Amino acid sequence: MSIDKNTTLFSRAQQSIPGGVNSPVRAFKSVGGTPVFFEKAKGAYLYDVQGQQYIDYIASWGPMILGHGYEPVVKAIQQQVEKATSFGAPTELEIEMAELIKSMVPNVDLIRMVNSGTEACMSALRVARGYTGRNKFIKFEGCYHGHADPFLVKAGSGVATFNIQTVPGVTAGAASDTLTCAYNDLDAVEKLATDNKGEIAAIIVEPVAGNMGCILPKPGFLEGLRRICDEEGMVLIFDEVMNGFRLALGGAQERLGIDADLVTYGKVIGAGMPVGAFGGKKQIMEVVAPLGNVYQAGTLSGNPVAMIAGLTLLKALKATPELLMELDDKTQYLKDGLEEVLKAWGQPYVINHFGSMLSIHFSNQPVIDFATAAASDTVLFKKFFHALLKRGIYLPPSAFESWFLNNALTVDDLDKTIRAVKESLEEISKRD
Ligand SMILES: *Cc1c(COP(=O)(O)O)cnc(C)c1O
Repeated sequence: MSIDKNTTLFSRAQQSIPGGVNSPVRAFKSVGGTPVFFEKAKGAYLYDVQGQQYIDYIASWGPMILGHGYEPVVKAIQQQVEKATSFGAPTELEIEMAELIKSMVPNVDLIRMVNSGTEACMSALRVARGYTGRNKFIKFEGCYHGHADPFLVKAGSGVATFNIQTVPGVTAGAASDTLTCAYNDLDAVEKLATDNKGEIAAIIVEPVAGNMGCILPKPGFLEGLRRICDEEGMVLIFDEVMNGFRLALGGAQERLGIDADLVTYGKVIGAGMPVGAFGGKKQIMEVVAPLGNVYQAGTLSGNPVAMIAGLTLLKALKATPELLMELDDKTQYLKDGLEEVLKAWGQPYVINHFGSMLSIHFSNQPVIDFATAAASDTVLFKKFFHALLKRGIYLPPSAFESWFLNNALTVDDLDKTIRAVKESLEEISKRD
């Protein structure tokens, strides 16, 4: 058998990049096999270094919500590159971006641009701590808020995928102010609030969780967090890095009708460029330097090429709100089709789905938090993943990640996917 180009590149990558990748989940370590190296993408399709085409269900983990190579974004980037790629000084583009976000999103009076979701979340936490003068905060098991030290406690995404219980390098000091409890467990939050009265700065939550697969908030859960924050003087931080500009123009806040105090963004906001943002209510955001003393900065923050990309995408979403509705309808169509073939297959499964986020857990119980997500059959997921990959369907290479649909997907692509899932399930059963 001739060694394929992906295998050659992966061995070469491992000589000079840790694990051969610049972000762990890409390495296929949990699903096994060789990661696919990509060369180009257009619309809903990815093309690897061997010219193999895949239907894309990760959309770069969210940003390519209108498909790859979306013309207006590509053109805008090209034009900006001709003018300048970075100043390290203010531009009008940044004001336009801030104004546009404020016009779309509830509860954002002031917003600061950063370069990633990680930066957005770590900065929002610092702001909440600076504002309240308290150190502790509550996060939920299986939620992921980027890789800053205080968040790497019972985290989702790659930390869950690789079953890393404690992260070496995160000091006990950095982790000791992190309080955790199960997602959807309001009683546990009440107890933490009582046991640590007057010491908790914030609760940070993914309103619709996407880093342990897709997990929906139970009715009353987010409302309960809002109430507890009000009662205890804590800051409610919605991590909308996945949800923002995807679940609605105004994100989860709008779709679920809950007000947050601070909000973090990433992924869609940069249209595929490295962008994040944190913002929120005026009295809280006023602590940020140079207005206040909570220091936060970035050489490339608000970078013009990144700004024009995000701005163009967000403008398109705002100008045509039907786009997000179409995308939701497509996701519903896919979900119905998957439901049909999974039911016929006859083994336990759970499909969680909200808006254009979806995931399949091979589980015989509802998947409502990290414990139930982790109890699902990940061995079966590996086989499922590879059976689909072979058929040209690119899913997230982990049972602990949500699928992200993009609006370039056609009904024909969705039908192909449903057929491929049917064949894959049959193949898995035969091998067992
Ligand atoms: C991806 C993600 C982050 C981290 O964003 P990066 O840009 O990868 O640093 C934070 N929070 C959530 C909910 C995410 O999904």
